[in-house]
Amino acid sequence: MSAHSNKALTVLGLGDMGSALTRSWLAAGYAVTVWNRSPRPAPVGATVAATAAEATTGNPLVVACLLDDASVRATLDGVDLTGRDIVNLTTSTPAEARALSEWITARGGRFLDGGIMAVPSMIGAADSGAYVFYSGSTELYEAHAETLAVPAGVTYVGADAGFAALYDIALLSAMWGMFAGAAHAFALIGKEDISPVEFAPLMVAYQQAMAGYSYGTAAQLVSGDYTEGVESNLAMMVTTNATLLRTAAEQGVSAELLTPFMALMQRRVAEGGGNESNTGVVDLLRR
Ligand code: NDP
Repeated sequence: MSAHSNKALTVLGLGDMGSALTRSWLAAGYAVTVWNRSPRPAPVGATVAATAAEATTGNPLVVACLLDDASVRATLDGVDLTGRDIVNLTTSTPAEARALSEWITARGGRFLDGGIMAVPSMIGAADSGAYVFYSGSTELYEAHAETLAVPAGVTYVGADAGFAALYDIALLSAMWGMFAGAAHAFALIGKEDISPVEFAPLMVAYQQAMAGYSYGTAAQLVSGDYTEGVESNLAMMVTTNATLLRTAAEQGVSAELLTPFMALMQRRVAEGGGNESNTGVVDLLRR
């Protein structure tokens, strides 16, 4: 197969994720040229290029999956990007993605940013639920849609190059809040004769049941009425949440993961939001 056919691309970066992406395209019959800064074993079947410039010469489509924005800049600096379609699957901030888009576009390339919602073992695995947020050049996205759909599902979120990173980071931020709650819960039961393994399914089921509460938050953010359909008012929650703090003290557990959110809820009540849901916390966070 010619390296210039549609079923060919370049991958820059052979870390855990870059390697998983490469393997998925190889398994789908693509010719993949790879480059990594330092010598690393390349997936079997890939063509190894000695430099990033050499790796990007043969294929119009170039996927970068490197550590961070600085490593992408360092790698592409000095490389001729004329006519190249650069897809950046490196985690970055929205502003970094927008600036990278301008940098690449000014050098004659097209740019698409991506945020991977998966770990490497989910890449190329059928029904793993893995997907990638994409944003940036619509033309690039449409030209390579079939190729981009090989490693994981695709969700295009608009022409603004920063949006994929924003969606990605917003979901990761929500995830860390969930993990913070789980860490506190495991600490609470930790001093008793309660098996974390038996506790986990109860906690996960409750987290899943409560996750849907965010649909109501979204609807209230749109309507602007934070009292609509409230069945657990904020004043009540702030009062009863004191039991969470007292329980943490009883169990000898630091409440440091709980108190920042509680302080925000208290502030909202103090400002007159006692009859609302906790949606007003979103407004307090917006600077
Ligand atoms: P790894 O740490 O396994 O690999 C990092 C890669 O970046 C290596 O190829 C490394 O090259 C390269 N690199 C680091 N610094 C530079 C530099 N200055 N110039 C050129 N290359 C550099 O990371 P992953 O593969 O796991 O992650 C890659 C990206 O994918 C990250 O942005 C990450 O956030 C994202 N991602 C990863 C996920 C995961 O679960 N692994 C999940 C979702 C997204 P070298 O071998 O020379 O050090």
